[in-house]
Amino acid sequence: MLESEVLEWIKFACDTCEVPELAKKITVKFRAGMVRTLGNARYRRNLITLSKEYMGHNDFSSSEKIELVVHEACHLICHYIYKDNADSHGPKWKRLMVKCGLSPDRCYKGNVRIERKSVTKTITVVCLGCLEIKELKTNEYYEYKNSLPLCTDHGGDCTEELISLNGRKFPQLRKENQHVINEAKKRASVGDTKPQRHYVEVNYSDLY
Ligand SMILES: [Zn+2]
Ligand SMILES: [Zn+2]
Repeated sequence: MLESEVLEWIKFACDTCEVPELAKKITVKFRAGMVRTLGNARYRRNLITLSKEYMGHNDFSSSEKIELVVHEACHLICHYIYKDNADSHGPKWKRLMVKCGLSPDRCYKGNVRIERKSVTKTITVVCLGCLEIKELKTNEYYEYKNSLPLCTDHGGDCTEELISLNGRKFPQLRKENQHVINEAKKRASVGDTKPQRHYVEVNYSDLY
């Protein structure tokens, strides 16, 4: 949905709620990265911020988007009319929504999950146990703040930590294993990503 359409629906809401003069005071911003809360309204600045991903996503119908826009507009209208006595999702706001012909039941917080459109990035990691080099999706690598993902290959016998060849997570561990990382970089540059047999033999001798 384009900004011009959003402004039209804001105008519709203001006209319908009999505060047509408010529409001109409202500004709209599309913000990238808003995926949990799809929109918000700041009444002090008469500003409506909408999720860029949601508004641009074809999986959501235009009626859902209209509902979100009117929902946020009604927050501003509610404050404009009732000032300090305004409520946020209470009876006053609900009445305005109904006036605009919309159901006031819906809350957008956490209801819709949008996959970020960004191309999945990968990160090259080396296992500190078997020295296998592999690619992980970035979000898998950073999934846990306080731990590294584990290598669970080789029938689950190697469960050592996977550390990225380039990165900053766990600086101390990186320092201690700098030689392993440097070796892995050399191997990765010539496409040698297999687990290192001698290393596996020493550390996981029961496998051989
Ligand atoms: Zn709301
Ligand atoms: Zn391993």
